[in-house]
Amino acid sequence: MSVIAANLQAVKNDIAAAAQQAGREASAVSLLAVSKTVSAERVREAFQAGQHAFGENYVQEGLDKIAALDDLRSRIQWHFIGPLQSNKTRPVAEQFDWVHAIDRLKIAERLSAQRPAGMAPLQVCIQVNISDETTKSGVPPKDVLALAQAVAALPNLRLRGLMAIPAPADDPAAQRQPFAALRELLDQLRQAGLQVDTLSMGMSADMDAAIAEGATLVRIGTAIFGARH
Ligand SMILES: *Cc1c(COP(=O)(O)O)cnc(C)c1O
Repeated sequence: MSVIAANLQAVKNDIAAAAQQAGREASAVSLLAVSKTVSAERVREAFQAGQHAFGENYVQEGLDKIAALDDLRSRIQWHFIGPLQSNKTRPVAEQFDWVHAIDRLKIAERLSAQRPAGMAPLQVCIQVNISDETTKSGVPPKDVLALAQAVAALPNLRLRGLMAIPAPADDPAAQRQPFAALRELLDQLRQAGLQVDTLSMGMSADMDAAIAEGATLVRIGTAIFGARH
């Protein structure tokens, strides 16, 4: 078995264990393999090991990989998970399946307008600044509902839920607190009548805490592909 295949299996085992610990079904947590800085050849290796959803942070790098793996296009879900500038929305709207880091209406409006007719709606999450750090991106919690309602009304987007990258914390209790806050925000959106089902939260270092608090999608890079250089 290749290193990538073995790592993928280990991550899936960890997801299953964390889900069981939380009294959840393992199948309720999907795995997004974060492939930023990873070559197209190594993404192909992960695909061959059974992984079909990949996350990219940088527009040009992502487009290059989508092109290099064009023969697999109909069987791969490409997620754009990085910050997105308004002058780079068009290729993302045209080529990706998901966008995780919507943090203002202008970006969502451009993505909707630029999504080609005939393609499935672009699946999107709103990024929340859950740890309230001035340096991190994302919309403040108090503004999430209004933005979610506006995004949900756009014709070529499908609002799926919320995403966050909390400040790093070492102990599990401290890791869980911001994930719990994101889960409560998703509940508020549901109570307001929005049909949302996705909590995109948890990375290699805090995946267990995220799953304990209800993550439905974990974004894992290092634990699958090794340390980035
Ligand atoms: C890089 C990245 C990840 C993956 O982080 P790892 O620590 O390598 O698992 C997840 N989400 C986002 C938004 C990232 O930029």
